[in-house]
Amino acid sequence: MATEKSAITENLERIQERAARAAGRAGRNVEDVTIVAVSKTFPFEAIRAAYDAGLRHFGENRVQEWESKQARVADLDATWHLIGHLQSNKARRAAGLFNRVDSVDSLALAQKLDAAVAEGGAAKGKRLRVLIEVRLGDESTKSGVAESDLAMLAERVAGLANLELLGLMTIPPFLDDPEGVRPYFSKLREIREDLVRRIGRALPVLSMGMSHDFEVAIEEGATEIRVGTGIFGERKSVDRQE
Ligand SMILES: *Cc1c(COP(=O)(O)O)cnc(C)c1O
Repeated sequence: MATEKSAITENLERIQERAARAAGRAGRNVEDVTIVAVSKTFPFEAIRAAYDAGLRHFGENRVQEWESKQARVADLDATWHLIGHLQSNKARRAAGLFNRVDSVDSLALAQKLDAAVAEGGAAKGKRLRVLIEVRLGDESTKSGVAESDLAMLAERVAGLANLELLGLMTIPPFLDDPEGVRPYFSKLREIREDLVRRIGRALPVLSMGMSHDFEVAIEEGATEIRVGTGIFGERKSVDRQE
């Protein structure tokens, strides 16, 4: 336990240093970049250790897995993000278990989440904060809304009373050279700027960048990076999608 804790602390320090340098290169303040620690496949002890190391945002990609860990960390004052694809039939459970759903990609899902919050699925009187996941490039198997459908979806989601649309998320293709994904990150930033003009409301969050490409993402304007292996180490179990 003690060694695991110090490994996480050391890993986090390294990530923070690299993030600060990337922010510096872009003339940005690293305080404007939130690290979301992706704890999927890791036990609740790892989440507690990461919390002790100072992390306050955590990402999980499966409702069921999070259900099995959540009670063991419920006392921590953290923001819990769902970052994996969410099936509409699990929207109600997700609304009750997460503070943020970063992977909204259809109106049907958004409406289900909205209804779940209205019926008390989330903390009373609180809107559920969401991001829309955008699919860039045309890999039809990946989740996320197509760019051509984004504006329409964003307008509708912004109109739902129990959801608070904060911004956009994307998962670019995995490329060995992180420089290769730079165009995807700059694209998401441009899309956000267009969307802000179009729907006339601020969208402060850009969630992009993972362990191997977060520096490029920060240079391109990420306000949240989702880091798993870089903090917790290699995942042993398979990372299954919902
Ligand atoms: C697993 C996952 C991450 C973290 O990936 P690492 O390479 O471990 O940093 C980030 N975002 C999403 C959506 C993920 O599923």
